Amino acid sequence: MSDIVEKDTVTTVHYTGTFPNGEVFDSSEGDSPLAFLVGHGNMIAGFEKEMMGATVGEKREFTLTPDDAYGQRDEDAVQQMDRSQFPEGMELEVGMTMGAHSEQGPIQFSVSAIDGDEVTIDFNHQMAGKTLCFSVEVVEIRPATAEEVTHGHAHGPGGHHH
Ligand code: ZN
Repeated sequence: MSDIVEKDTVTTVHYTGTFPNGEVFDSSEGDSPLAFLVGHGNMIAGFEKEMMGATVGEKREFTLTPDDAYGQRDEDAVQQMDRSQFPEGMELEVGMTMGAHSEQGPIQFSVSAIDGDEVTIDFNHQMAGKTLCFSVEVVEIRPATAEEVTHGHAHGPGGHHH
């Protein structure tokens, strides 16, 4: 048995994420807790670092700067496109996210502004540049199976299903 959150455990948590102004951006409250394999990049690095060594039932609250979360915004990742470059008939709306293919693989971007035929798109992660506050309670900790470690993610309830 693993008693603490450490690499190669599957840790199950209830969590609430808020911005510094108190606005909730994500929460498992009222939903199933989240299970994740620790030490395999399933969670943002700062989140795992803050949870290392926690025990079942322990609650931790912490604040992550953008560098410990989704990174700083890159203004070069904001581009102007013409509406005609999007598929015909596609409804464009500010705030919508879309996927595209690049040489580096699939990427996501969001529409940040529409001015006539000029569409501003943003390849930054939507959480880039943001300071994130988390309140986390550890629900369960178990050793990962060899298969989970090989796959690099948690299986079973709250985890990744195959
Ligand atoms: Zn798997």
